[in-house]
Amino acid sequence: MKARAMAGPMLLSLLLALLLFPLAAAAQTPQAGRDYLLVGEPTDEQAPIRACPPETLERLGDGILIAAPAEGWSGAPQAVDVFNVFAGEVMISHGDRRICGNMQDARTRDSRFRAGIGMVLVPKPGDMEPIRVAWETPLKARWVPTLRLGAPSPVQQMDTMRLLVRTACIAIAIALALSALMGFLTTRDRDFLVYTLATALLVVWQSVLSGLSGYPEPWLPVGGFAPWWMVSASALSIAVMGWVLWRLCGGLQTWPRSRPWVRRFAQLLLALALVTPLLPWAGLAWAAAALDHAFSLVCVLALVAGIVSLRRGDYQAVDGVAAVAPLLLMALADIAGSRDLVRFRVEAVQLSVTWFLMMYAYGINRRLGQLRQQRDEMRQLADTDALTGLPNRRAGLRQLERHMLRARKDRLPLSIGFLDIDLFKQINDRFGHEMGDAVLVSVANMLLAAVRDRDDVIRMGGEEFLVLLPGTHAEAALPRLEQLRGKIARQAAERRHDGPVVTVSIGLAEMRAQGDDLTALLRRADNAMYQAKRGGRDRVVAAGDDAPVLSGDPGDGG
Ligand code: GH3
Ligand code: MG
Ligand code: MG
Repeated sequence: MKARAMAGPMLLSLLLALLLFPLAAAAQTPQAGRDYLLVGEPTDEQAPIRACPPETLERLGDGILIAAPAEGWSGAPQAVDVFNVFAGEVMISHGDRRICGNMQDARTRDSRFRAGIGMVLVPKPGDMEPIRVAWETPLKARWVPTLRLGAPSPVQQMDTMRLLVRTACIAIAIALALSALMGFLTTRDRDFLVYTLATALLVVWQSVLSGLSGYPEPWLPVGGFAPWWMVSASALSIAVMGWVLWRLCGGLQTWPRSRPWVRRFAQLLLALALVTPLLPWAGLAWAAAALDHAFSLVCVLALVAGIVSLRRGDYQAVDGVAAVAPLLLMALADIAGSRDLVRFRVEAVQLSVTWFLMMYAYGINRRLGQLRQQRDEMRQLADTDALTGLPNRRAGLRQLERHMLRARKDRLPLSIGFLDIDLFKQINDRFGHEMGDAVLVSVANMLLAAVRDRDDVIRMGGEEFLVLLPGTHAEAALPRLEQLRGKIARQAAERRHDGPVVTVSIGLAEMRAQGDDLTALLRRADNAMYQAKRGGRDRVVAAGDDAPVLSGDPGDGG
């Protein structure tokens, strides 16, 4: 058990060490007496390669021409940044300057632009030559590039803002995945592991989509195959997201027969993800479009399931409806041809996916919280006596064991009183079982009211109770139990003249420093109680090594 609990933190520490090692190795220590640190070294690298290879130029369309103002360019620097390129190469040219780049390689690293492919050029004042921007045929018809023109600083600011949003989305996803991993390591709940894997998949997918897979250097080996990666990862992501959305929206509960269909749908997408690398460009475009439609359909179905579940009173489906809402809104905006969506498509997709991941995590944690609550309630029920509300025998013995351990550890005394109602059978026989129950409840309440906060009262079963008096020697416990006995006898007598006479016999035992285990201690208290019965009832007897200590009114028992 201990080794298993250690495995999680050790695994995470190892991961951290692996991450920190390259950083530590690269760190340089400042030299004594210097107040600066020079890093890096002189380079003989020429201008970074942003050339346009002939085979790239062949694939480019005609593109567009951004015309100069009527009076010609002012001579101020112009920045051009091309965003939301789903896949493929972009070329920007003006005069004799021409650059090419794509989101997944690092050829744009010299530029100030990272969320898009950009260039700053300085046309001569009065120059009329337009800026030409060309790109490969987009894989998805609606996924058209956004071009931004302006002064370098605001264009770069917008680029940086987009980069931050994209990075933040991925960082949130990684944080959620790590948190779910820790959840899995501590609870072994399979849902957490599935969440971690699904989130890792979405991190890879987002990295390629946002171009972060090529920043600052390409770290995912997508090379020129980014579109294939994108479509393959999309198929897997839709399989996972579809299954999760259906579950969160309560689809599986509302329509249990949908389970095989969900499985078949996921299998189909898995097969598509596997064959994607073999598809030619036209097939890839078809697959991408089919996936878009499939995902829109999944979202609509999930929403319907969510609404039906909510109407049936399954309020947990609200997680699913919340998760699907932005995804559906995006699909609607796409159909309506929203300019804003075209402009911020990558950010919109990533933010919707991040929101989905948050709702998914919320759903898992809520389910786990409810399971815990149910377990606590069941434990509470299993430990409580239904009639009196006192801890039952099972829970009581656990409490006694805890008290004994603590008493041994702290070298403190511990006394227990074993209490049995006298001639209870007669009460039942004469006044009925209901009256018997009422007597049990009133004795339980009297005991509870009379003991100190740290004492425990337990219903051991039938008409037997156990009082635990931690920190109390038998000498001090005896008068207190005697007081209890007297109070019970008086109260019953005062309350009803024609009602039952209620008296109790109590056996007292103090834990011995040596040789007293739980059974022995209880047996001694039980024996003392029987001595009290034999002695005439309605009295307290302390178990002792020597002669038993007697109290009460000798001779007045039944
Ligand atoms: P003694 O003084 O020797 O203890 O006599 P007694 O009649 O109390 O002892 P006995 O053990 O013979 O009787 C206990 C009775 O308690 C028998 C059983 O029917 C009754 N009893 C046990 N549990 C309950 C309960 O939950 N409610 C009621 N009303 N009676 C119960
Ligand atoms: Mg009894
Ligand atoms: Mg009894």
